[in-house]
Amino acid sequence: MNIDVLEMTPTKAEFVMSDTSPTFANAMRRIIVADVPTMAINDVEFHLGPIMEEGGKAYESISPLFDEVVAHRLSLVPIPTDLEQFNLREKCACGGEGCPSCTIMYSLNKKGPCTVYSGDLEPLGNEQYRVKDDLIPIVKLADDQALLVYATAELGTGRQHAKWQATVGAGYRYFANIEIDSDKCDVGCSCVEICPKGVLAKDGRKVVVKHPEKCNLCNSCVEMCETDAITVTGDPTKILFRFETDGSVSAKDILLKGLKILEERFEHVREQVSSLK
Ligand SMILES: [Zn+2]
Repeated sequence: MNIDVLEMTPTKAEFVMSDTSPTFANAMRRIIVADVPTMAINDVEFHLGPIMEEGGKAYESISPLFDEVVAHRLSLVPIPTDLEQFNLREKCACGGEGCPSCTIMYSLNKKGPCTVYSGDLEPLGNEQYRVKDDLIPIVKLADDQALLVYATAELGTGRQHAKWQATVGAGYRYFANIEIDSDKCDVGCSCVEICPKGVLAKDGRKVVVKHPEKCNLCNSCVEMCETDAITVTGDPTKILFRFETDGSVSAKDILLKGLKILEERFEHVREQVSSLK
């Protein structure tokens, strides 16, 4: 199998897999959505009772939302994750008690009137875990209201809960094989105009396929062509794959981790089969 990367940014990946099959692409899709782990807040401790300011003003530990809703909103904030550094909490050397190898602690201390944002989460210890997406609104506090919480993030997978799903919008489709029969083509170019993706272009006295990777197999050009000069087919051995991330893990790291998990699964199957008598 070959992979040609068309686009790779921290939050987006688009590539062409060739010499492959739809089943492999689907296995890949399922793994990066459900099995590549990421950090998310899983435990939120709320301060109860009044909070005194230095000037003597008293705030109530209360917000317009139920604590459960605030905790849920915090859990959906993407947490910067280094997949090499963190262990699953239950498999960590600390025995699940929580340590720098399996958890990140945050504090959040805001007094109203104000809007509390994801960027108000203060990492305890390492500044590199400061939330990058800092303008996600959590709750709006009124005058005399305050929120003081301690939150713990840990590793998990999308299989357990969507908050641990770093990959979003993962999908694939067949790469298009577009053939233009130059003997039949009258260069009327209605196909060039009708194509919603700008796949075809006029080049002198012929129509050429300029951006085959953009073709979504809609067949508008085939229907428009009066001389039946165009054939468009999907190639099941060549697949265009794309996905985005929530920003907690880079697209490249998700892809590498996904491939590693897939390899481990097949290794497991190989061991099981080879142990058969
Ligand atoms: Zn630990």
